[in-house]
Amino acid sequence: MPQSLRALMWIAVYLLLVLAPLFALLLGPVPVGGGFWVDLSLALGFAATAMMAVMFLLTARFQRATAPFGIDLIYYFHRQASIGAFGLTLLHPLLLVILDPRLLGAMRPSVMPWHLWAGLVSFVAMTALMISSLWRKQLRIHYDAWRVGHVLLAVLALVTAVAHIAGVAHYSATPWKKWLWLLIALSCLLTVLYARLLKPALMLRRPWRVVDVIPEHGSTWTLVLRPERHAGFRFLPGQFAWLSLNRSPFAMKEHPFSISSSAQNLREISFTIKELGDFTRTIGRVKRGTLAYLDGPYGTFSIDLSQAPGYVFVAGGVGIAPIMSMLRTLAERGDKRPLLLFYAYHTWERLTFREELEELRGRLDLQIVCVLSEPPVDWQGERGYLTEEIFARHLPPDKAGRECFICGPTPMIEVAEKALARQGVPLTHIHSEIFDLV
Ligand SMILES: Cc1cc2nc3c(=O)[nH]c(=O)nc-3n(C[C@H](O)[C@H](O)[C@H](O)COP(=O)(O)OP(=O)(O)OC[C@H]3O[C@@H](n4cnc5c(N)ncnc54)[C@H](O)[C@@H]3O)c2cc1C
Repeated sequence: MPQSLRALMWIAVYLLLVLAPLFALLLGPVPVGGGFWVDLSLALGFAATAMMAVMFLLTARFQRATAPFGIDLIYYFHRQASIGAFGLTLLHPLLLVILDPRLLGAMRPSVMPWHLWAGLVSFVAMTALMISSLWRKQLRIHYDAWRVGHVLLAVLALVTAVAHIAGVAHYSATPWKKWLWLLIALSCLLTVLYARLLKPALMLRRPWRVVDVIPEHGSTWTLVLRPERHAGFRFLPGQFAWLSLNRSPFAMKEHPFSISSSAQNLREISFTIKELGDFTRTIGRVKRGTLAYLDGPYGTFSIDLSQAPGYVFVAGGVGIAPIMSMLRTLAERGDKRPLLLFYAYHTWERLTFREELEELRGRLDLQIVCVLSEPPVDWQGERGYLTEEIFARHLPPDKAGRECFICGPTPMIEVAEKALARQGVPLTHIHSEIFDLV
């Protein structure tokens, strides 16, 4: 089935999952409504809970469902849809209180029924989810702590929301409607069990072993892994995987990295990792023989998903990693199509893979434009940051037919996307990989 058709099918499945519980409540005996606004407020509450429930499916990394979109788009959607669900959650009690301010009296802790407590706990958990996710960096919450907290808060928000619905028992008074919501909550909990227990258990049976740790230019390391007593996995050049090193796959301490090796070589897999924070700074000290676990491959950033008569690559810093995988794969396949690489970095000395890129030029029809922000005095090439003028100087006449792949720091990606589009590359030919999921 073509990618676009599969994407449409999954969007239809999403809408069905979100709207089905709402319509189900209207089947069978329906209570006498409290008027349009009350019913609207209840519908908003139901829709918010259904949206919350579907978030569990969205983020469980089901490979078939994520494949047509790419994980980054799914996470982006998860973020936006969560803001939407939170807005609906906020409107639900707000509308009811505006319609009947006496309801505020029932909110005193001494008289509040348990189902209102459940609703309140759900609302507080959702607020905490929103604040900790939207402002995690500003609040200096460590990623690993945030991740564990995020799962716990999400489960709490959903379970208490469903308890609230069951307790109010207005539209959900009939037993089968109560069961429907309990089933929804149960399937979310099962999804968490799948993602946190079953999937890691399967990964435990497919370990990998570090066979080499290669220092690269620019405070960067290449980690080479070999599958241990299994065949590894097939991937498309440019895809990524979640890596856990020297820890059980149950530990929730995994990091996403692009595969930098050739997709033609299934005996070994490499990741090229730049020292940045707590985890990435330890890569240089990883011992050969260390056990590793991989969850992947994921992602749609690949030449194999966008056939074209030629390609343009734009890399900034360690953003060269997925592009290296594509170049190495093309070289091993003996591909003769024209390729153009814009590679931006600070200095020549720190340019990761500069020797291998030179060698790849001999095997591929590859033109390389290095853009250095701190060039040596005798530098003849482009200097400063990537700009539209630099693109205009080097893009070939057939640029509109080429597929473009951009990976690097977010500001560079934004400049490159705009510049390529202004230079006449159709938006559908521009693909970007962002190294920041949240
Ligand atoms: C699809 C994708 C592909 C990537 N490919 C590469 C690559 O090939 N080479 C490379 O050097 N880097 C890559 N990264 C970035 C890499 O995942 C982060 O730099 C790394 O996880 C940071 O961990 P840290 O503990 O060293 O840094 P920290 O200082 O702890 O974190 C820095 C930032 O990295 C992000 N981060 C931290 N931990 C995680 C985690 N477990 N999962 C997701 N994000 C996290 C957070 O936004 C955090 O604020 C990729 C990221 C993504 C999303």
